[in-house]
Amino acid sequence: MRKKIVAGNWKMNTTLPTGLLLVSEILKNTDIPKDVILIIAPPFTHLSEVSKQLKNTSIKLAAQNCSQFDQGAYTGEVAASILKSVGTEYVILGHSERRAYFAETDLVINSKIKIALANGLKPIVCCGEVLEEREKNIHFDVVAKQLKGMFEGITPDQFKDIIIAYEPVWAIGTGKTASPAQAQEIHAFIRINIEKAYGTELAHSTPILYGGSCKPSNAKELFANADVDGGLIGGASLVAKDFIDIAKSF
Ligand code: PEP
Repeated sequence: MRKKIVAGNWKMNTTLPTGLLLVSEILKNTDIPKDVILIIAPPFTHLSEVSKQLKNTSIKLAAQNCSQFDQGAYTGEVAASILKSVGTEYVILGHSERRAYFAETDLVINSKIKIALANGLKPIVCCGEVLEEREKNIHFDVVAKQLKGMFEGITPDQFKDIIIAYEPVWAIGTGKTASPAQAQEIHAFIRINIEKAYGTELAHSTPILYGGSCKPSNAKELFANADVDGGLIGGASLVAKDFIDIAKSF
């Protein structure tokens, strides 16, 4: 059985007080299925406080990014070791907004994955095509290339801590969602790629999440697919009830 995961990417939203309030609203829900792992990824500044709030709960903490460098003179960056030191367990890497606005390449993401793993963080690694690539029907090639580049040099032993999030860029924050069939088709393709690189066991055990305008009204049909193991949720993760309802959609 693969892990079922619902991860909330808060992006650059909430102040510290409103963020802590959102966490306490999420924590009021005690009826989340036990087999679903809930992860929240608030802004860096909130991690330390949120980590204290999540102590003795089943909800896990993620950062939205980390530096590709170890530590030292990198003004404005946050190292994986710093994230780990405040109780962070996961880190979202390769998000399309990082690629689009901060020029992150597969090579940079590859360095970040390596440094995150070396510091005991579990990477949630994003991939996905832009609209033009989907329209040209080259989305499979795009995703295969991203996976190859991002996981270059990652050993099978390291790969067991990886979660993948397929996020078609045209569906992120747009209200457009991949159809369940489109999601299943590319998730199955990603799993085949993992199998080729890392073998059957890791292909079967690696969670592959869907991201892109996932909400309570469409989560059920997306999660019903054999190769969709949950969601990476942006907008809807900022509303406690929606986030929880998504987690109850399996
Ligand atoms: C995301 O940015 O990871 C995401 C899936 O956003 P949204 O749910 O808002 O489309």
